[in-house]
Amino acid sequence: MTRIAFIGLGKMGRPMAANLARAGYEVAGFDLVEELRESAGQAGIGIAASASAAVEGADVLITMLPTGKHVLAVLQDVVPAMSRKSLLIDCSTIDVQSARAAHEFASKAGLESVDAPVSGGTKGATAATLTFMCGATGDALERATAILEKMGQKIIPCGGWGAGQAAKICNNMVLGINMVAVAEAFVLGERLGLKHQALFDVISTSSGASRVLTTACPVPGVVPTSAANHGFRPGFTAALMSKDLQLSQAAAAVADVRTPLGAGAADLYQAFVAAGHDAEDFSSIINFLRP
Ligand code: NAD
Repeated sequence: MTRIAFIGLGKMGRPMAANLARAGYEVAGFDLVEELRESAGQAGIGIAASASAAVEGADVLITMLPTGKHVLAVLQDVVPAMSRKSLLIDCSTIDVQSARAAHEFASKAGLESVDAPVSGGTKGATAATLTFMCGATGDALERATAILEKMGQKIIPCGGWGAGQAAKICNNMVLGINMVAVAEAFVLGERLGLKHQALFDVISTSSGASRVLTTACPVPGVVPTSAANHGFRPGFTAALMSKDLQLSQAAAAVADVRTPLGAGAADLYQAFVAAGHDAEDFSSIINFLRP
C-alpha cells in the first residue's frame, strides 16, 4: 500500500490528508502545532511525532505549508532520509523560484517531484473538489495525478517544474484585480445613487460580467454565496489574497514584466492587511475603498 507523509495539517492540509486516509492510503501526518496534530488524529489521519518520523517508510511526501521558506526547510530536514524514487508533491502556494529550488533539491536526492498548488479553498479541501495546477511531466505527473484525484476534481498539467505555481500566481492576480474592479464599480455606483441590485443586474448581464461578480459580489443581498452577506467572514482571507499578489509581483520583477494593475491591487491589499483586516474575506476590500 502507498504510504503518504503529509506535512502541514492546517486549514487546508488537515481536510486534504483526511480525504487521503478515507480513500485508503496509509497517511502519517505532522504539524508543528500540537492541537492540530490532535485534531487531525480525530479526523482519522495517522499522526507522527516529527516530520522525520512521518517520512519513515513513505513512498510519497505531500507538503501544505505557508511559504517557500517553510517548504525548503522541511525538505532539507526530511528528503535525505527518503528512499530514491519517492515522490514529492508540494501543494502549498509559494514563489516560483522556491518551487524550482525544491524540485532541484528533490531531484538531486533521486526523488520525483510535482508542484501542485490548489484552488478551491477550505470548502474544496473538505469536499475533495480542489483544482490542482501541476508543474511536472511524465512519470511524476502520472503518479501524482492518481493521488491528487482523491483530493480534487480537476488536475491541470501546466508544464514543467514551477509551472503550477506560475499558473496559480497568474490566476490569483486576475482574481485580486477583478475583486478591486468590482468593488470600485459598486462604490462609484453607490455615490451615483444606484441600487446594488440594479447595478448587479446590469453588470452581470453585460460586458463587465465576471465570476467574482456573480459568486463573490462584495455587497450584501445580491448573491447568495457572497461573504458580504455574513459580515465578510472568510472564505478566502485578505491575508492570503495579499500574499498571492505579492508573489505575483515578485515573479513579475524577476521576469521583467510590467503588471501595473497587479501592482495596484498588491499595494491596496497590503495596506488593507496592515490596517488589521487580514482575517476578513478578501471581498471586504470594498470597505477600504469607500470614502
Ligand atoms: P495554515 O497556516 O492553516 O496551515 C499551514 C500549517 O503548516 C500550519 O498549521 C503550520 O503549523 C504548519 N507548519 C509550518 N511549518 C511547519 C513545519 N516545519 N513542519 C510542520 N508543519 C509546519 O495555512 P492553510 O490555509 O492551510 O494554507 C496552506 C497553503 O495553501 C498556503 O501556502 C496557502 O497560501 C495555500 N492556500 C490556502 C487556501 C485557503 O483558503 N486557506 C487556498 C488556496 C491555497
